[in-house]
Amino acid sequence: AQAEFQRIQELLPAWLETSRLTTPEGAVATYIPELAKIPADALGIHLMNGQGEFSSAGDCGFPFTMQSVSKVFTLILALMDRGEGEVFAKVGKEPTGDDFDSMLKLELVEPGIPFNPLINAGAITVSSLISGRSPVEQSARILTFFRELANNESLDYDENVFESELDSGHLNRSLGYFLKHNGVLEGSVEEVLHVYFRHCSIRATCADLARMGLVLAYDGTDPITGRNLIPRRFVQIAKTFMTTCGMYNASGEFAISVGLPAKSGVSGGILALVPGRYGIGIIGPALNKKGNSVAGVHLLQRMSREFDWSLF
Ligand code: GLU
Repeated sequence: AQAEFQRIQELLPAWLETSRLTTPEGAVATYIPELAKIPADALGIHLMNGQGEFSSAGDCGFPFTMQSVSKVFTLILALMDRGEGEVFAKVGKEPTGDDFDSMLKLELVEPGIPFNPLINAGAITVSSLISGRSPVEQSARILTFFRELANNESLDYDENVFESELDSGHLNRSLGYFLKHNGVLEGSVEEVLHVYFRHCSIRATCADLARMGLVLAYDGTDPITGRNLIPRRFVQIAKTFMTTCGMYNASGEFAISVGLPAKSGVSGGILALVPGRYGIGIIGPALNKKGNSVAGVHLLQRMSREFDWSLF
């Protein structure tokens, strides 16, 4: 294991630069106007092992909003708050094969419940299940949980991205009202959306994602502090969704080419993990047609192949 870590440290900078050459194949997301401002050719990675040793390369200090990466951890918090029974009464467990924000298949699993917690309709539903007396309190609980997982007290929101999503989130808003119509959402749709946009706009770096991934890689215990942060069963559920639906509808292809639990977001972040070994955070804002970081996927493919990381 130590030899592998050393090889990673040696090879990572050169591999990252090779992967960076693929960024012109992708494009930065523009439907959230604030995101369109991110430099497309940024690429950074941070990988951390259970001893707290890390290897990083490229633009690894570049801050970005977590976007859909946050959905994994709000799901976990909702499971911790409500338990499996209540959560899965409201969201399904199956991949869709559709875009993350699709409305097409909302009605196919049971009457009206979203297919899974990682598509937008599912994640909006999950946001509504977070305990708290108000959206502000729900959001505060989410931020506190994320800070614990990242072991970073200074984790905070990007207010510009939050405002931008609030202004431009018409499709998410329509998903919310559709869910309300079907009796999936309780209370005010606008309040639920507030919680959802808030957690999508939490700003992090690759190091934060790596540390959060490390907790999942160690079944819910931060191996560095020894603190148990998530019950193992909920980590198992989260990793399963990451494997089946974490990379939008390229999740099958990613399972074949990389074979690790991972979750990507529209700002170009990817959180991946090698069970029992590493947490990995990547930022590469240029996205491919399926919405995943072009260069980030390229880099993970290379590493997984070289070190034989595929779980399959
Ligand atoms: N906040 C984004 C949205 O709802 C998240 C999308 C994503 O990262 O896939 O549109």
